[in-house]
Amino acid sequence: MAKKKTEFDVIVAGAGPAGATVAAILAKEGCSVALLDRETFPRPKSCVGWVNPRTEDLLKGLGVATKKLLARPIGDVIFHNANLSQYSVPKMTACPGYFVDRGAFDEQLVRAAKKAGAHLLEEHDVSDLNPLESGVEVVTSNGERLTCKLLVLAVGATTKLRARVGLKRSESRGVRWTAMVEQVIDTKPKGARPKGAAAISRMDIILGVTPENGLAVLARQPDRIALFVNSPGERNFIRDRLVELAAALRAREFVPEGFAVDPSSIVCAESCHDPALELDSHVGKNTLTIGDAGGFVAAVSQEGIYPSMWSAQIAADVIRDALAGDQSQDALMTFDTRWRLAMGDYLRPPNTDLQLLAPLIFSNQPMTDRMAKAFFFGENI
Ligand SMILES: Cc1cc2nc3c(=O)[nH]c(=O)nc-3n(C[C@H](O)[C@H](O)[C@H](O)COP(=O)(O)OP(=O)(O)OC[C@H]3O[C@@H](n4cnc5c(N)ncnc54)[C@H](O)[C@@H]3O)c2cc1C
Repeated sequence: MAKKKTEFDVIVAGAGPAGATVAAILAKEGCSVALLDRETFPRPKSCVGWVNPRTEDLLKGLGVATKKLLARPIGDVIFHNANLSQYSVPKMTACPGYFVDRGAFDEQLVRAAKKAGAHLLEEHDVSDLNPLESGVEVVTSNGERLTCKLLVLAVGATTKLRARVGLKRSESRGVRWTAMVEQVIDTKPKGARPKGAAAISRMDIILGVTPENGLAVLARQPDRIALFVNSPGERNFIRDRLVELAAALRAREFVPEGFAVDPSSIVCAESCHDPALELDSHVGKNTLTIGDAGGFVAAVSQEGIYPSMWSAQIAADVIRDALAGDQSQDALMTFDTRWRLAMGDYLRPPNTDLQLLAPLIFSNQPMTDRMAKAFFFGENI
């Protein structure tokens, strides 16, 4: 029997959108890459599944077929205030994005990485990282030890491993939660859709749903409805807010009567905690941190899939340089400048407090349109 390979140029810990993207790019270029995940793919992943339209180019660049994956463009977009008494409809000049099946999306990315030549190691739970003189040792919970010249940490939002590469969580910042509920439901209008009637896939964005300026998204697709609340604060408070909001949406007939939220069906996950822009560095000894693990989430929309893949693309460029030269750590250090230059504006919160802007969003069309551009395309308001 062939001996199992344990030494790689690059090990990527976590095979979500961030990890699979960097693994696919580097493996395609001939690097020996191990892509580790504690799960087996396809794995379920709670997610509204909204991706912005630029994701299409990233997927195509990885050789992922987009026709089926991006078959559900978002039709209408509507902003609401917190008690649903006011709304405004932005004039969208470009498609705001797509709703994707998140399980299928992540699986396709992992397949692309595998096809490019990455060694996919499922059910490999990374439990420890040991910096070596010229590399990193990765230890899994079943005792396997793998080594690499460079490590990419892409293990998502909540992980102790970040501390092992010197990324400490800021104590001053409270925890941010995402609570979500999804129901398979028939939202199709009966009969043919009348001309000019609302599109079937629609995104209602509810602003200021918590005192901490939380955000809610109601995503309606032909066969499912998802409601998500994202906010700093207490976990139970965010969950309760989701239940209240669902009742208010039902009362206003924004969702069908059948959209009843059973608290036990709510998924509540810790969101990306420290925004990338607030971390001093994403570079540890022979290590880069990307995706949710590095706080690569857009401030206005809390969108994370596209920024995760984007951070992975930049990391791949940096790793290519690091592996090619003698001073790999110096090359790795350029990651901080490179992602900030490319992604800083996209990730940054607006200059003006959203709570102050909210009344204008509901009374002034240009402001509604600017809010939409900030939300969907990361532009400043
Ligand atoms: C409820 C909810 C809804 C969301 N909806 C949207 C949305 O509609 N649009 C959007 O853009 N973003 C959304 N997000 C955010 C989005 O899911 C994340 O930003 C995105 O998944 C980040 O990708 P990632 O690859 O960095 O991390 P992840 O997708 O979390 O992938 C990390 C991977 O690492 C693996 N892993 C973790 N620890 C270990 C370990 N120790 N060893 C081995 N493997 C490990 C995990 O199994 C996982 O596969 C949502 C988040 C939540 C919680």
